[in-house]
Amino acid sequence: MNKFKALISIFILSIGSTSALAETTLIKNINGYTIEGTTLRQFSAIQFSGDHIDQLFDKGEVIQNSKNITIIDGRGATLLPGLIDAHGHVLSYGESLMTADLVGTSSQEITVQRTLDYANKNPSLTWIIGRGWNQVQWPSKTFPTAQSLDKHFPNKPVWLERIDGHAGWANSKAMELAGITKNSQAPDGGEIIRDDNGNPTGVFIDNAMDLIQKNMTPLTIKQQKKILLKAMNSLASMGLTSVHDAGVDSKNLQAFIELSAENNMPIRINAMLYLPSDGWQASLAKGQFHSADNMLNFNSVKIQADGALGSRGASLISDYSDHAGHKGLLLHDKKVLKKYIDVSMKAGFQVNTHAIGDNANKIVLDLYQDAIKESKTKSLRHRIEHAQILRLKDIPRFSELGVIASMQATHATSDKNMAVDRIGNERILGAYAWRKLLNANAVIAAGSDFPVESANPFFGLHASVTRQDKHNAPQGGWFANQKMTRLEAFRTFTIDAAYSGHQEKLIGSLEKGKKADFILLKNNYFTEPETQIWENTVLSTWVNGKEVYRKN
Ligand SMILES: [Zn+2]
Repeated sequence: MNKFKALISIFILSIGSTSALAETTLIKNINGYTIEGTTLRQFSAIQFSGDHIDQLFDKGEVIQNSKNITIIDGRGATLLPGLIDAHGHVLSYGESLMTADLVGTSSQEITVQRTLDYANKNPSLTWIIGRGWNQVQWPSKTFPTAQSLDKHFPNKPVWLERIDGHAGWANSKAMELAGITKNSQAPDGGEIIRDDNGNPTGVFIDNAMDLIQKNMTPLTIKQQKKILLKAMNSLASMGLTSVHDAGVDSKNLQAFIELSAENNMPIRINAMLYLPSDGWQASLAKGQFHSADNMLNFNSVKIQADGALGSRGASLISDYSDHAGHKGLLLHDKKVLKKYIDVSMKAGFQVNTHAIGDNANKIVLDLYQDAIKESKTKSLRHRIEHAQILRLKDIPRFSELGVIASMQATHATSDKNMAVDRIGNERILGAYAWRKLLNANAVIAAGSDFPVESANPFFGLHASVTRQDKHNAPQGGWFANQKMTRLEAFRTFTIDAAYSGHQEKLIGSLEKGKKADFILLKNNYFTEPETQIWENTVLSTWVNGKEVYRKN
C-alpha cells in the first residue's frame, strides 16, 4: 500500500520537476502492440496527457521534441494495453493473501501441517481460516475429515475452503459452534458429507458451507477496504489494470465506493452484485454507479446456477460418469433463478450467471432467451460465467442471443486430469471448448477466477494458446484442437473483456482518446516461444496515465 503511494509521489515529482504545467508524457523506444479493428497494430512510442492517450508513433516516425513533455525511455520493453480479468474475486483474493495458503498441498497430512504452521505464526486469531486444498491431487483422492484437524486444534475452530470455494472442511470445534449433529440437514443446494453411520465428517458442499461460515464475525467496511487495497495492488503487479469482480455484496460494494471516493483505486473494478445477498434489492433500486474517472463501475449482477465440477456440484443433464445416480446441484429452484434474472434485466442490469454443468448452461440459456426477449435487453450483453460444459447444440446460442462466454483458460489446464473422469469422452467435446465457441462467433471474455486459480493473466494467455500447464503437459496440448491463436487470446484479455464490461470505447486497446491503461513487459508476448508465455515479467503498470506499479 505504502509502496504504491510512494511510486505515485515519485511520478508526480518527476513530472513536476520538468515543468509545472507538463501533464504530457511520452514513452519511446518500445515494442508496442494494440488491436485495431481485427488486426494487430505495432508502434514504437506512446504519448498521453493526463488520463488519456494522445498518439501512437509508428517505427521511424519523427517525434517532435517539446520541453513540456516528460520523456521516458522504454529501453526496448514490450508495451501492451492493460490486461483485463473479466472474472475474479477481489475480496477473497485479498483474504487469501492473509489466510493459510493451502494451494498445491499434496496430502491431507501436509495440508494439516501447513495449517498448523500458519496458526503458530498467528496466535491471536480466533478462527483459523485457510484456502486452496484439492483432494483430487492427494494420493487418497478422498475428502479430508475433521479428525485429522482435531488432533492439533481441539479448542480452536478451523475452516479450510477447497481450491474452488465450493466445499469447506471444518474441525469438530467449528461444527460444535455451528450446532452440527447427526440430525443436521443440509439446506437446498448444499450437502453435508457423512460417514457410513450418518455422522458429518467435516466437509460441507456449496450452500451447506453457510452452516459453518455464519458463525464467523463478519469483516467491517474498514477491514474490507484494507484487504481490497492490498489485493488490487497485488493484481496491478501482475499486469491487470481492470478486474470484473464476480460477486460483491452491498457492503463490499460500499467499500469499493468509499475507496473510489477517496481516490484510492489502483486498478479499475467492475463490480457485479451477488444475488441473493443482504440488501441486494436496495442496491439494485439505487441503480448503476460509475465513478467520474471510471475506476469503479457497477452495472451488473452475478447469479449462481450450479456448483463446480471438482466437488461434483456442477449440474449435469445425465449422471456423472464417475458417480452413478448423481447429477450435481442446481443452487436455486428454476423459478427462483428466473425471478433473479427477470428482476435484474428489468432494472437495466447486465446479468452474469455462473453455469458449469451442461444442465445449468442449458437452463440459463433458456431463461436468458425468454427474459432477453421480454425485457428487450440484448444490448446489455448478458454473460454466462465459466460456460464450462456445453452441449454441442448450445454453443451457437451464445452468439444468437448476444450472450458473452466469460471463460477461464487455466480451469482447463487445472481440470484436465479430472474432467474426463467426471463427464466421459462424449461430453468432454463441449467442455472448455473455446475454439468451438469462437468458430460459432461467440465473444469470449477471459478471466482467471482468482483466487481459485492464480490471478496472473500470463498463465491464462499461456493456457489459451497451448492448452498446456506450466510444465508443458500434456505434450501437444489437452484437446489441442481447441487452442486459440496468440492474437485471439490477447483479444479475450483486452478488447473483448472490455466489451464484456461495456467499456470497449474507453479501454481494452490503445488509441487516441482512450484511457492510458497499459503495461510494460520484459518479454515480447507476440514473439517469445509459446511455452514461455506464462513466465513474462511485468516491469510497470499504468492506469489512467499514472504508474501504479513498478518492479523494483
Ligand atoms: Zn468465480
